[in-house]
Amino acid sequence: MPYASPEAKLANERRYSHRRRMRRQERRAWAGFYVVTRRDVRRLLHRYNGRCAYCGQRDDMLGLDHVFPLARGGQHRIGNLLPACPSCNARKGNSTLMEWAGHESWKIRISYDEPF
Ligand SMILES: [Zn+2]
Repeated sequence: MPYASPEAKLANERRYSHRRRMRRQERRAWAGFYVVTRRDVRRLLHRYNGRCAYCGQRDDMLGLDHVFPLARGGQHRIGNLLPACPSCNARKGNSTLMEWAGHESWKIRISYDEPF
């Protein structure tokens, strides 16, 4: 691309490298918020075959449960998420998996590492 002057060329290059730098900073800033990507979620649901990780029920309304609840200081990270049907999700509420299992262990088939 022809430039009117060497200065114009320099200014143009500077503008572009600036923009590149900005974009890199933006990415870094967002990284903290988008820890769980849509791809992560899809992979998780696929791993559990579209079934609830707690009761094994196939459910179209499958949601994501925070194994260690956000309200209790859990993190929104893929490692803290399991697919759960609305019923399990509601029953588990803000209890941790261990607390819930203590109350309703007969109803739960926890499949943490070995999906159904
Ligand atoms: Zn369930």
